[in-house]
Amino acid sequence: MTMNDGPATASPKGVTVLGATGSIGISTLDVINRHPDKYRIVALTAYRDVAGLLDLCRTCKPEFAVMADADCAGQLERELRSAGLQTTVLAGAEGLITVAGLEQIDIVMAAIVGAAGLPPALEAARQGKRILLANKEALVMSGALFMDEVRNNQAELLPVDSEHNAVFQCMPAGFSAGRTPAGVRRIMLTASGGPFRNLPLAKLESVTPEQACAHPNWDMGRKISVDSATMMNKGLEVLEACWLFGMDAEQINVVLHPQSIVHSMVDYVDGSMLAQLGNPDMRTPIAHALAWPERIPSGVRPLDIMEAGRLDFEAPDMDRFPALRLAYEAWEQGGTAPAILNAANEVAVQAFLDRQISFTAISRVIEATLSQCTPREANSLANILEDDQLARDTAARIFSSDVRRATQ
Ligand code: NAD
Ligand code: MG
Repeated sequence: MTMNDGPATASPKGVTVLGATGSIGISTLDVINRHPDKYRIVALTAYRDVAGLLDLCRTCKPEFAVMADADCAGQLERELRSAGLQTTVLAGAEGLITVAGLEQIDIVMAAIVGAAGLPPALEAARQGKRILLANKEALVMSGALFMDEVRNNQAELLPVDSEHNAVFQCMPAGFSAGRTPAGVRRIMLTASGGPFRNLPLAKLESVTPEQACAHPNWDMGRKISVDSATMMNKGLEVLEACWLFGMDAEQINVVLHPQSIVHSMVDYVDGSMLAQLGNPDMRTPIAHALAWPERIPSGVRPLDIMEAGRLDFEAPDMDRFPALRLAYEAWEQGGTAPAILNAANEVAVQAFLDRQISFTAISRVIEATLSQCTPREANSLANILEDDQLARDTAARIFSSDVRRATQ
């Protein structure tokens, strides 16, 4: 028996929350604050939202806080000192890496959005931490490298993405991320279909960022909300599932389920299909990943299955959602193709949010970027980051010429 076995003697586990001011970050702090006997916040990070991180520092009193650059860090430090708080403030990518690998932490919540979240998530793996992975882009970009670091350093990888967390919960006993489970025929990832599931196709061209961000079931950051509307989110999740569950993309199916109550399913060779159900609230997968293999209250309202009434399932329409097809094609191409897909998507989504391109142009930009960039082996971080940059430059060039054509 170790010190950590008994609830009476265990000291709270140290936690770093990367992306603390975001939707997942805030939900994580909500769960953690319900269990001060089990978890202790050691470090919080944000991008440029000084006021947001200051508020969180006041309530959580972390040892470390990290901001995007020295300017924001200086501003936060002044505010903290005048509030009488001693939190050490760090800056930039280096600061993120430092707090992801601190000796005094056991758990890292990886909830930065996009490629920026990759280096600190890799560091957490190298330091053998328990990683609660929300940042799916990290795995899409560098799945092979990431899983190697997890295995080689005995890190624990627990998926927070609700579908992958559901699949993990339905896996055979003793399963750990990256292994191929025995007896599983296929995985079925559920998708709500987003806000435009039933919109006439001709109207898709002119939808606004506000409409795209108004998700019917989930309250999320802006980038993932647009990804849900194009279904690139599900495409990225197919690739994420390939790495987490050691399977090929053709064994990962997508099914539309507008109620978002069944969070995903695992189909076994004996004809059993297991599903995980719950209200759509990210605090459930967060609490599961924090406490696994134990269970802790998360603050989520229990599911009332009578109130839910009916559950619908249908096949996705690939004409409406070309992004989903592109993700499967990127997996087929292999190497850095998923990193190219992800980078082009980040650029195109930002351009859509900035009202520079239309909603339907997002997938066109990604498809053109994939056809112009030749993928290489994804066997080093240098290769991956170079192709990520090449894809960003290519996507930006493509959409600028698209915009020029449209305005001529
Ligand atoms: P969000 O936009 O609400 O928050 C993102 C966080 O990352 C913020 O704290 C922000 O300050 C920080 N950040 C942004 N850019 C950064 C940069 N360049 N460097 C450092 N920090 C940066 O996003 P979210 O909805 O919380 O999503 C976070 C991640 O979790 C994404 O990868 C998303 O795909 C994934 N995810 C989210 C949900 C959800 O319900 N929100 C569900 C599943 C997976
Ligand atoms: Mg998801």
